[in-house]
Amino acid sequence: MPMYEFECQECGEIFEELLGINESTDGLKCPKCQAKNPRKVLSVFSSATGGSSGASCTPSGST
Ligand SMILES: [Zn+2]
Repeated sequence: MPMYEFECQECGEIFEELLGINESTDGLKCPKCQAKNPRKVLSVFSSATGGSSGASCTPSGST
């Protein structure tokens, strides 16, 4: 089962939930303020580092 990240639109809390393919986000609530309809955010792995922007895109060997 894939894990998704959600961001509460009320308090900005980020939390993770396991969702099945046929499972909807209707019943999801923020664990902090119990607000409904959290915003699904993509689990961007690279955002965790937050450094070295563009370093990997640097062309090498410009002869
Ligand atoms: Zn909240």
